[in-house]
Amino acid sequence: MSTHQTVIDAARDGLVYLPIGGAGEIGMNMYAYGCQGKWIVVECGVTFGDETTPGIDVITADPAFLEDLGDDLLAMVLTHAHEDHQGAVAYLWPRLRCPVYATAFTAAMVRTRLAEAGLIDAVPLKELPVQGAIELGPFRLRFITVTHSIPEPNALAIDTPHGRILHTGDWKLDPDPLIGATADEKALRELGDGGVLAMVCDSTNVFVDGDSGSESDVREALCEVVGRFRHRVAVACFASNVVRIESIAKAAAAHGRQVALVGRSLWRVTEIARDCGYLAHTPPFLTEHDVGFLPRDKVLFICTGSQGERGAALARISQNDHANVVLEEGDALLFSSRDIPGNERAIYAMQDRFAALGVEIVTGRDAPIHVSGHPARDELARLYDWVRPSISVPMHGTHRHLIEHAAFARALGVADARIVTNGAALRLAPGQPKIVGQVTVGRLGLDGKRLVALDDGLMTQRRRMNYSGLAFVSLALGVHGDGGLPAPRVTLRGLASEQEAAGLVAEIEAEVARITARAAKRKRGTEETAEEVRRAVRRVCGRLIGKKPVTEVHVFRL
Ligand SMILES: [Zn+2]
Ligand SMILES: [Zn+2]
Repeated sequence: MSTHQTVIDAARDGLVYLPIGGAGEIGMNMYAYGCQGKWIVVECGVTFGDETTPGIDVITADPAFLEDLGDDLLAMVLTHAHEDHQGAVAYLWPRLRCPVYATAFTAAMVRTRLAEAGLIDAVPLKELPVQGAIELGPFRLRFITVTHSIPEPNALAIDTPHGRILHTGDWKLDPDPLIGATADEKALRELGDGGVLAMVCDSTNVFVDGDSGSESDVREALCEVVGRFRHRVAVACFASNVVRIESIAKAAAAHGRQVALVGRSLWRVTEIARDCGYLAHTPPFLTEHDVGFLPRDKVLFICTGSQGERGAALARISQNDHANVVLEEGDALLFSSRDIPGNERAIYAMQDRFAALGVEIVTGRDAPIHVSGHPARDELARLYDWVRPSISVPMHGTHRHLIEHAAFARALGVADARIVTNGAALRLAPGQPKIVGQVTVGRLGLDGKRLVALDDGLMTQRRRMNYSGLAFVSLALGVHGDGGLPAPRVTLRGLASEQEAAGLVAEIEAEVARITARAAKRKRGTEETAEEVRRAVRRVCGRLIGKKPVTEVHVFRL
């Protein structure tokens, strides 16, 4: 049962935290805070489709609750530019229509998407400086510099009349991040000194002991590993990891190689990064067309598609299907990336294709050429020590992550840790923290050019068609007897091979003819006959091949 009004009321007299996406999953982050009847939402991210959502690649949280708030939703704030934090702005802003705040790099990344969607003039996208602050109704917001795997990652300090929240965003404590400052320990400690009511904190790596490691170590390792090879070298990395791209470029230069970018998103991100002042000492990249004339040992490709995504540069190269780039016997492919859970099968299949081509593969398991952008347990412990929140509220994790994180926070001495998942509204103050209601949440999928609800039967129907195939039957019934009517037509799709289909269709047609003859005699209605035929088609297919297709019957009265 959803209780929007209860939640809205609780935020009138108190301070409410309400995750709409990202709590109980990793992806499509969207966290709302309500106070004195006003609300802000932090993040507006996407997640990606899989085999359970055929035809749908991009998924957002359902912002129904926020939509209902109207003008009481004061702003959307984005902590950094990863897709799981800002990728849905272009899709969902038209429903929310509030100002959007971000630092320059994030804003520029959002702007390219808004331009594609024709929304660039409509969306009030406001840039805040790094460490910038803004007052919005009862909320005083301040960006606090942290480190992560993309330029300009921010935690968000939220001061309200009911107390202070630290919303960490995605973070780690990289002692030498190479781009941008280290995490602002001083500001974080000062927050703690002033008293933090609740810390809403990244849970991604709560199962990882120790530290996440530093980008500077990766830079060193990349340089060493690139130096091992005498033929082409390709490196797969996430397009948004600008510092990693810089490190790869330095490794290439150290070994006399020129760098070509392969994949559109790499061009998009590096151009935005240069506009924002990053990559200033990195020479211009070559296009994949430019490097054809270079000897094999003078080139290094940076490629998108480390997750084995269909259609991305690496998948195409692995299938010898890329217009300009070939990897072959003696070449090397480095994965400066991690396997995102759920993508393993696609990644391993792609790596196997490269192995078959004779390409040597180096992953983060073989050499320290990747570090995570999220805090391992020692870093979590340090942040808890600096911030000393009264309440820990884990986010950015599956249920297992949230439960483990809450236990860890308690073990670190945090008095109260609350597991709050999508749709549950936690009143943080006044009084003891308490779940005060549950709002409508869900997932929307980008299906063609519009968003569709993923839990209202459409996907079930599409999956059934995918797994069971389709049968169509058109048949005519006469108003005055059946003399001279066209014979029924049966079409099968995705059900049987061509040879098999002929026999199957013949059997179905014979059965349909028997039913229509009987229907005429017994003066059966159109609907009734259609249903009888539908059942018969499924029965015949089930008997002959053991499959029951999704079946559509059209009956025409002539
Ligand atoms: Zn991130
Ligand atoms: Zn994230």
